[in-house]
Amino acid sequence: MFINGKWLEAQSGQNFKSYNPASGEAIGQVPAGDGVDAIKAIDAAASAFTTWSSLTAYQRANFLYEAHAGMMKDLERLASIMTEEQGKPIKAARNEVKYGADFLLWYAEEAKRVYGQTIPSARADQRFFVLRQPVGVVGAITPWNYPVSMITRKIAPALAAGCTIVLKPAEATPLCAQAVFEVFEKAGFPAGVVNLVTALDPEPIGDAFINDHRVRKLTFTGSTQVGKMLARGAASQLKRVSLELGGHAPFIVCRDADPVHAAKGLALVKFLNAGQACISPNRVFVHTDIMKPFLSELSTRVSNLKAGSGFDAGIRIGPLINDKALEKVDHQVQDALNKGASLVAGGCRLVEGGLDKGFFYAPTILGDVNSGMSIYREETFGPVAPVIPYDNEDDLLPMANDTNYGLASYVYTRDLKTAFKLFEGLDFGIVGINDINPTSAAAPFGGMKESGLGREGASEGLNEYLETKLGGFSI
Ligand code: NAD
Repeated sequence: MFINGKWLEAQSGQNFKSYNPASGEAIGQVPAGDGVDAIKAIDAAASAFTTWSSLTAYQRANFLYEAHAGMMKDLERLASIMTEEQGKPIKAARNEVKYGADFLLWYAEEAKRVYGQTIPSARADQRFFVLRQPVGVVGAITPWNYPVSMITRKIAPALAAGCTIVLKPAEATPLCAQAVFEVFEKAGFPAGVVNLVTALDPEPIGDAFINDHRVRKLTFTGSTQVGKMLARGAASQLKRVSLELGGHAPFIVCRDADPVHAAKGLALVKFLNAGQACISPNRVFVHTDIMKPFLSELSTRVSNLKAGSGFDAGIRIGPLINDKALEKVDHQVQDALNKGASLVAGGCRLVEGGLDKGFFYAPTILGDVNSGMSIYREETFGPVAPVIPYDNEDDLLPMANDTNYGLASYVYTRDLKTAFKLFEGLDFGIVGINDINPTSAAAPFGGMKESGLGREGASEGLNEYLETKLGGFSI
């Protein structure tokens, strides 16, 4: 663990192992931190806050520039740790490291644009000034599916704002987090500014963040269930919270869309990271008039997706993270098939050619999916595309919005009027119109409804770490 500028063992002396999900083999071990370690890290972050928050924005930006350069220099090493520990193909891992580094660069620049305000008063002898100041010590919790970029998406804006931070990464990907912190160490951040607590049991760390008055902000990316629980806990001290939670993205293919183009888009975005993405399409609505060419193109593309170790050439589908994830995906597929869905492709665990040692699931297409199936409501987090036929475009918005989630959504249409109607009518924080990658460090990312609170990326992402202070001056 990295606490107060030093690499430390857990106070208990305990460690836990990290595994390669493609082979099931242990690949390393890290300290199993607990509440005592978390408090030690909060102590460090609290004492570093005074100095870090009083640096100029230009000085803080310089550290972030260093970290960005370090991460780009270390790209190959970080990507290869990620492929080994999390499973995504090496090319996708390199893309994630670049995306993660983007946050460091973007917020190095944005740090200099934390503007205040002057407000005219009704009184001639009064002046109003508004300052933006860092909220204080931040507790951050991140998931395993994007184990590098989810860390920098929180740490970069927090540090730019002048906050100090304690991060607890997911127990499935602690080696990725260590590698990112090695980059931070080299960038030379003052001791205590960034701290890493690894833990097999996340609860005591979450409790420390919730119960320690010095932690003024909790930022979490993960499941809606855990997010709600942490938000309830944080409410007892009215801490600021940012939550990036689950999703259930509709992918709408309108009657006027090019079915081949749309199928190509779906094949790319659905099977990215083996479907383990919060913005992964989970309900694919396709107009019956173009269902045939759409499914035909999709099936061809899916049949070309090769599964295996992310280090092997041509691999597009890596393993799921563990056997529990495999079980969940297969359960949803079997439930849909039992209730009348048709199996267009896949539909089983992959075991041939040594894949049985890892957690591989065949890229799957289900046809004739309906609202009675669990996959229609539950997040899948696996390589399954559930296709739902529809006839009437007036039904689209009510169908697409019929979910408690509200993170990403996608629309394929060639009609500008339809594009605007759906863009404005979809209850989702992100809408890709003929676009499967509506994400960037410069753009606000986040969900409506039970997909979360707040935004990451863009100036919105920086605001999450700033307090507004009003000064009223009688002169
Ligand atoms: P998870 O909620 O199980 O775990 C996420 C993190 O929370 C991990 O670090 C875990 O250790 C920690 N955690 C779990 N229980 C905790 C507790 N009691 N106290 C404190 N911390 C606790 O989710 P996951 O399975 O790792 O990740 C998948 C989920 O994350 C999906 O729902 C996905 O949609 C979501 N996700 C969302 C975004 C987004 O930006 N909206 C991005 C990536 C993933």
